[in-house]
Amino acid sequence: MLRAVDASQPDISDLRQNLDEVDTGIVGLIAQRMNIITEIGRRKQNATSAIQDTDREQRVLAGVEDVATDLGVSASLVRRIFRELISESVAQQASRLNGPATGELRIAFQGSAHSFSDAAARKHLAGRAAEGEPVGYRTLAEVVAALLAGEVDLAVLPIENTAAGSINEVYSLLREHELFIVGEETWKVDYCLAAVRDVPLSSLSRILSPPEGLEQCARFLQTLPQAIPTSSFDTAGPMAAVAAAGDPSVAAIGSAEAAEAQGLTVLRHGITDSEDNYTRFVVLASAPAPVDPRVASKTSVILSTRHEEGALLRCLEILSGSGHSMTKLESRPRPGRPWEYLFFLDFEGNVAAPETAAALDELRLAAQFLKILGSYPAKVLRPAARPGRLPDAPAAEGPAETLEAVVAGPTPPPRRSGGHLLVDRASRAADTVVQVGDLLIGGNGFTVMAGPCSVESAEQVTATAKFVRDHGGHVLRGGVFKPRTSPYAFQGLGWQGLDLLVAAGRETGLPVITEVMAVEQAQRIAKDADILQIGARNMQNFDLLREVGKLDRPVLLKRGLSSTIEEWLAAAEYIVAQGNQQVILCERGIRTFERATRNTLDLSAVAVVRERSHLPIIVDPSHGTGLRRYVAPMAWAARAAGAHGLLIEVHPNPDEALSDADQSLSFEQFGALMSQLSAVPGPHRPN
Ligand code: PEP
Ligand code: MN
Repeated sequence: MLRAVDASQPDISDLRQNLDEVDTGIVGLIAQRMNIITEIGRRKQNATSAIQDTDREQRVLAGVEDVATDLGVSASLVRRIFRELISESVAQQASRLNGPATGELRIAFQGSAHSFSDAAARKHLAGRAAEGEPVGYRTLAEVVAALLAGEVDLAVLPIENTAAGSINEVYSLLREHELFIVGEETWKVDYCLAAVRDVPLSSLSRILSPPEGLEQCARFLQTLPQAIPTSSFDTAGPMAAVAAAGDPSVAAIGSAEAAEAQGLTVLRHGITDSEDNYTRFVVLASAPAPVDPRVASKTSVILSTRHEEGALLRCLEILSGSGHSMTKLESRPRPGRPWEYLFFLDFEGNVAAPETAAALDELRLAAQFLKILGSYPAKVLRPAARPGRLPDAPAAEGPAETLEAVVAGPTPPPRRSGGHLLVDRASRAADTVVQVGDLLIGGNGFTVMAGPCSVESAEQVTATAKFVRDHGGHVLRGGVFKPRTSPYAFQGLGWQGLDLLVAAGRETGLPVITEVMAVEQAQRIAKDADILQIGARNMQNFDLLREVGKLDRPVLLKRGLSSTIEEWLAAAEYIVAQGNQQVILCERGIRTFERATRNTLDLSAVAVVRERSHLPIIVDPSHGTGLRRYVAPMAWAARAAGAHGLLIEVHPNPDEALSDADQSLSFEQFGALMSQLSAVPGPHRPN
C-alpha cells in the first residue's frame, strides 16, 4: 500500500539539497577560519610569543562546547571537531615558523595505499603544506632502508597504539640506525568490515585482516564464530585480496577508504573494540631538524642508566627538576645484556631552548648512554585539565609564554656551560664505573684484560682465554683488525678473527675487547664484542670517536703516541658528548727521545687523569715498554700508582707471535705476574 504524500512537507531530495548547502557553508566557514589563522600566523612571525597557547585553546573549546550545549548538539562531538581544527591551525603556524613550504617531499610508509600509515603520511604532508605522493614499502625495515639510502626524505612509522601499546620493531629500528624524529602524527583507527557485495554477516566463512586489526577488533570477531580470521600484512592489502578473489563469503578488515578504493561494500562500520583508538606515528629523517622554540615541542631520547642505585630516578629528576614533563617512558631490553634495559623517554621540551639543552647536558652525565632522537612539534600533548568554572564567570586572560631566539641554519656544536668538559672531574665528582655484564671497571676495582696481540687461530685464542681466566684475568683481549706500521706485516684475521675471539670468550665466560679501526666496522663489532678498543693511532680519528660515541658499548680509548693528556681527554669528550659515557682510558706509552724501550710509559698520567677526570684509567705495560721483561715491574707500578687495571699481551708461544712478539708474555710469566700483583697494594683500595 502506498503512503499518502504530504505536499506541505519538503521531500527527501529537497532535504538533501538543504543538507548540501549547509555542508558547503561549513566548509566555507572552515576556510574563513583558516584565513584568519593565517593572518594571525603572519603577525606572530615577527613576535617572540609561543604559538601554542594552551590556555586560549581551552577557552576556545569551552566556548564552543557552551554554544553546543545551548543548541542541543553533542558537546563531545563539537569538542572533537574543534580539537582537529585547532591542531591543524597550530601545525600550519608551526610550519610557517619553520620556514617556507617545503615543496615536494618524498615520504615513505609501511603498507599499501589507503592504509592508516598512508593516511598519517598524507596528514603530515598537509600539515607542512608540502606536496608529495607517499610511497608504501612492504616492511618497516624496508622503509628505514629507503630513508637511509636517500630514496625518500621522510618516513612515517607507527610507534604506539592507544589500545595495543608500543610497536617493538620501531623501537628497535630507532636504536639500531642513525634515525631522527622530526615530527609526530596521530590517526584515529576506525576499522570497517567489507566484502564484494552486501551479504549477511552470518554467511562469511573467512575474514582477512592486518594483524593489528585482528587484535583491535577482537570483540567484534567473537560475534562471528563461523568466520575464520586470517592475518595479512597491512591495512589495505586484505581489501585488495578480497576484491581480487571475488568470493562473497570472504570479507576484509581495513579502512573505509581502502574498501572504497577496491570497490567493496562496507558491511559494518566502527568495528574497532575501543571507540577511542588512536595510533601515534613518528616522522623520521636521516638528520635532525631544528624546531622554532616558540612551537610547543617534544624531545625523544634513548638512555641506559649507570650501575648505581636509584640511577633511573636520578635521570627522571633531572627532567622534572628543570620543568620538563615526561610524556612517555618505555623500557626495552638492552641487546646482548640480559636483564638490562634501555629506556625510551619522551618529554615536553626543545633542544633549541637553553633550559632543555642544559637539562640534556646534565642527563648525559647521569646516564651511561644517551641518544637524542630529536625535537619535533608536539601533536599529542597530555590533555590539559579544565578548571571548573561557574557559567557566568569570565575566563581570565592567561599570560602568553614567551621564548627567545628563533633557530635557523645548521645546529651549532653543543657548548658546555661553565667551560669544563663532560669528562672533567668538575662535571662529576663520583668516579665513573663502567659495567660489562657483571664486571665493574673503575671505582675501587682492579681489572686485568689480557690475551694475544692478534687472534691467530681458534687453538691459540682459546688456550690463552682459558689460561687468562684460570689465573684471575677478567677480560679477553685480541686484535682482529691490526694497525701495523708496515702494510706487509700481518694485518689480522678480520671478521673471521672476531668470530674466534667471541667463541673463546663465550667458552670461558670472559667478556672480550677488540680494536675498531674504521667507522664502518664499529656497529658490526659492537654487536659481538663487549668493549670497543680505539687504538693509539686513531685517538684523534674524530669520525671514529663520534661513531663509537653513538653506540651503547663501553669504549677503551688508548692515548695517542704523541698526545698530551689534555688532547687525550678532549678525544674522550668526543665520545662522551655523543651520549656514550662508558669510556675507559688506557695509558700505553708515548713517543720520547728514549730508545731503551719501545715507548715511554707515562705513569704520571695515571695520577693526573685520576685527578682531572672521573673516567677510569688502565695501563698497558706491553705496548708501553715493548719488551716482556719490563712488563711485570711496570704492571706493579701501575697498580701502585692508582690505575684501575691493566691491558696485557699474552701468547701461548710468544716468540712465534704474528705481531708484537717481543712484548708478549708467556703463560708462565703471566701466571707469575698475576700472583705477584695481588701483593701490590693499590692506593686507597682495600683489595
Ligand atoms: C694493541 O693493543 O694491540 C695495539 C695496537 O695498541 P696501540 O694502539 O696502543 O698501539
Ligand atoms: Mn699489540
